[in-house]
Amino acid sequence: MLELRPNCELCDRDLPPAAQDARICTYECTYCAPCADTVLKNVCPTCGGGLQPRPIRPANAWRPELKLGLANHPASDRRRHTPWSADQIDWIVERLSSVPPHER
Ligand SMILES: [Zn+2]
Ligand SMILES: [Zn+2]
Repeated sequence: MLELRPNCELCDRDLPPAAQDARICTYECTYCAPCADTVLKNVCPTCGGGLQPRPIRPANAWRPELKLGLANHPASDRRRHTPWSADQIDWIVERLSSVPPHER
């Protein structure tokens, strides 16, 4: 199951489960859209993969027998912060931002 992280790992702004501007990489590293677009340029600074809109988990359990939705699978409350320095981020963004994610 997707881990819904509570904040942008770069600028630390809140990204609640219903945020439409949350972006994630394949390892669920989470960023806000402005950071993803302007700083990271669609490069996850940890794995080098692309960033996509995070799917929104429904608040309601629409199929009660399956026990899905946020009430059954709540978002994480563990805030994360990228371990990479600005220089380390620039290094990988410069190398990969011009390469489409499917060719990295
Ligand atoms: Zn951000
Ligand atoms: Zn990543």
